[in-house]
Formats: sequence, C-alpha cells, structure tokens
Amino acid sequence: MALIPFDNQTEGCIVHAELAREPKMRLSKRISSVSPSATIAAAARAAEMKAAGIDVVSFGAGEPDFDTPQFIKDATKAALDAGDTKYTPRAGKALQAAIAKKLAAENDIHVKPDQVIVAFGGKNALYLACEVLIDPGEKALIPAPYWISYPEMVKLAGGQPVILPTSLDEGFKVTPQQILEHSKGAKILMLNSPSNPTSVTYTPKELAAIAEAVLKTDLIVFSDEIYEKLVYGGVKFVSFASLDKRLPERTITFNGLSKTYSMTGWRLGWAAGPTEPIAAMAKLMSQATTNPVSFAQAGALEAYTSPKAAGTIEAMRREFEKRGRHMAKRLNAIRGVKCLEPTGAFYCFPDVSSHYGRSFGGVAVKDSTSFARASLEAAKIALVAGEPFGEDRCVRLSFATSMEQIDKGLDRLQEMLK
Ligand code: PMP
Repeated sequence: MALIPFDNQTEGCIVHAELAREPKMRLSKRISSVSPSATIAAAARAAEMKAAGIDVVSFGAGEPDFDTPQFIKDATKAALDAGDTKYTPRAGKALQAAIAKKLAAENDIHVKPDQVIVAFGGKNALYLACEVLIDPGEKALIPAPYWISYPEMVKLAGGQPVILPTSLDEGFKVTPQQILEHSKGAKILMLNSPSNPTSVTYTPKELAAIAEAVLKTDLIVFSDEIYEKLVYGGVKFVSFASLDKRLPERTITFNGLSKTYSMTGWRLGWAAGPTEPIAAMAKLMSQATTNPVSFAQAGALEAYTSPKAAGTIEAMRREFEKRGRHMAKRLNAIRGVKCLEPTGAFYCFPDVSSHYGRSFGGVAVKDSTSFARASLEAAKIALVAGEPFGEDRCVRLSFATSMEQIDKGLDRLQEMLK
C-alpha cells in the first residue's frame, strides 16, 4: 500500500474545502421532473411506525402476502449450488423459450424466444420499452387511474404523458372514443388489465372494442398484464395482442413473476413483442445492467415449467377473491364510501371524497393525501392516497393481508368516519 505523503493529505483537505464552496451538483432536468414512488414511501412510513411499536394495520402492500412457493426456491437453491453464478447471455435462452411457450399456450400470443426479454421486474421492462420507443416530446396516452410509474417513466424517457380520465361510475374503464379522440400525434397507449390501483379487469368484449379503435390509429400498445392470474367474479382474462392478427406487430406485452408467484423481491419481469423493439431493449439492458440474476432465472424457469405451479396460483387467487369481495362489501357499508367490487389484482380503490372537509385526529382532510395521513394518525391504518394514481377522490387499500387484519383495519376506518 502506498503511503500518502503528509503534503498530499493537506492538499486533499484544500481540494475538499474548495469543493464544499462549489454549488451543489446540478441534477438533470429529466430526473428533476419525476416524482419518487409514493407507494414505496407510504410502505416505509408504516414500517417505521410498526418498528416504533405502534399497532398499524397496513393496507399499503403492493405485493402478495404469501411466500414464494417452495418448489421455486428449491430450483433456485439447486442452481446456486450447481455454480449458476455467472453472467448469462441477455436472459437465459431456456427462460426466454419457456416464456414464449407459456405465451402460446395460455395467451394465444406467438413469438420466437428472442422476442422475449427478461428484465429486473416488469417495472424495468416497461422502463426499457419507454426508453427505446419514446423520443423527446412524443406522447403516451395513459388512462387514469393509472399505475403511478407510467407517467414518470414516460417523462424519464423525455416523453409527454397524456392522461385519459375515467370515473368510478363508468367502472374506471377507458372508452374506445377517448382513445380515438386523443390518438392524433400520440405514439403509445398504456393498457393495464387487471389494473393497479382500481382492480378492474376489462372484459374480452370491452378489450375487443378498444382493439378495434386502436387499429384505426398508429398507436403502439403497451399491455401490462402483470395481474393476469388474479381475476375474479367469473371475468375471463384475455391478452390484448391475441384479439386481432394485426395487433402483435404493434403491441408489447408485459408480465412478470412478482404477483403471480409471490416473487416481488426477486426482481424478475419480462416483455414480449416485435423483434426490433425487444432487441433495442436488450441493447440498452446490455449497457445498463447486463442480465437478470442468474440463479433467480432458474427459479423463474421452474415457475413456468413446473406442474405444481397451477394449483399454487389458483389457491392464492381464490383467497384474494374472497378477501377482495369482503373488503369491498365492508367499505361500501361505511357511510360516504363507494367502492367497486374488484375483478382483478388485490386492491380496493374507494371514493372517500364525501369526507373531505372533515377533520380526524387533528388532521384536516381536504384531499386523498391528507385522508391517508389522517387515517394513519387517527386510526393507525396505512393506505395509499389516490392522487399519485391520478384520482384524488380515492384511496387505495391492498387486500394482500389477512382477513383478520382486513376486519381490524376496516373496524378502525368505520369508527373514524362515523
Ligand atoms: N405493473 C403494475 C400495474 C404493477 O402494479 C407493478 C407492481 N406494483 C408492476 C407493473 C411491476 O412489478 P415488478 O417490477 O415487481 O414486476
């Protein structure tokens, strides 16, 4: 180890002092225009209160409360023990092939393995797609309420989000007319069914009507199907790209392992679509992050090929369906609260705006953010404001928690709002 002469140390101190007088590092305009993830922030606040010994009921979770199935963990451990610890090409070929096979069998989407890219979560796949398809100023149509990251990702890519509002009374569904009206000059349409935060799943007929509208435009569709396996009330899930033979060339389908297999922490998601954008996403990934974690890919491969998977997913789906129905029923029984019964995902997104103007636990409630703050302070329940999802009249409650916690939390909410 080289010894640093005393003089140099002194010099280092001088440089340091000079740096301290310099203006702060100026951040890029792109990052300055973006908001941090509100759901992650809300979860952190609830965790902080819990750590301080406060009995908080958390409805903030954006992830299943089940553990990753054991057979997936076992395959991952075996891969790790077998030395599967090196860089992999892009995403392992075997996993791309398994996903292509799943898409053909379950989704009626027919792609070659290299039309699939596995990334660090569906979120990363969506972001890569924004980066390779959106030029500065280009518009992306985003039906609201939307998953909070969509507008931010579009902005990060330099694009311009164009919000298409929908209302609870219309079932929170964007109409073909809205798409046609705003399609001129727009490049991308974001679709998310089942939806986070509304838990609304479009019926095959509704999606077909949207497809018909899309085919009259030049829009590219990002179909985020991450909650595909979590559908309720007899609604049938269909993949957007399967609805017309002209759709695959203009659709990128997004999905992942987070929700279906309770693998949020593994950071594995993927996109499938036409060769060119997928190759461009792979190129960007090759420079930014290389491949998704090698042994985690082995777990994903097991998830998509094991005969044990279907039963595990169905058991989880049934449990969520029961909880969602129960939560919606209880919310609708609270004075001034209106909620759709979830047909997918694991959220209730009630309209609580009739309580704006009141005050709870010393917090004056005037919007969804203050409603969420009041719920935490006055009733010790963590829920997420609707505002960052593009609907300030609503709040989001996740039912990825036990029935006991749902009842305990809703007893508290009922008491607060009485
Ligand atoms: N899309 C939607 C609609 C989501 O709710 C989420 C997770 N909250 C994602 C994509 C991304 O999930 P992940 O990155 O864990 O695959």
